[in-house]
Amino acid sequence: MSNQITIEATKFVNVKGDGETLGFRMYDDYGQTYCNTLESIPDDDLDLLRLVLDNTDDISAAMFEHIKDNESDICINGEYYGWKTIKPILCQDELTDEEMVAKDMFKCEHCGKWFDIEDSVKLNSGEYWCVECDKTQKRIED
Ligand SMILES: [Zn+2]
Repeated sequence: MSNQITIEATKFVNVKGDGETLGFRMYDDYGQTYCNTLESIPDDDLDLLRLVLDNTDDISAAMFEHIKDNESDICINGEYYGWKTIKPILCQDELTDEEMVAKDMFKCEHCGKWFDIEDSVKLNSGEYWCVECDKTQKRIED
């Protein structure tokens, strides 16, 4: 059974009169929900996923449960993110740091976000950073 869950960053525009707000839509084969109260849309899809988690309602909570139960992927703004990538973000609220580490996840010592241990980069200093921070840092040094 495939049931693709999708999140789309969305600009909501009133058809009549003025009015424009930012937020997201989240939907699958069985339902949909939306939030139109975001101040801005993050560039990073996974940061958007974190915002969606912060704005969960009954419908999106059920969709997130479905993802966790099936370890399925999610489509965000047209990109597909596999379970391995989204697991650290989805599980963060319910697991302690020790439990996260026990499930092969690590917290980036630069941005403080959780990632799969396979996506860690060990710096010369001995710190573990996420791939994104490692990339950004190298760009600054170049
Ligand atoms: Zn990082």
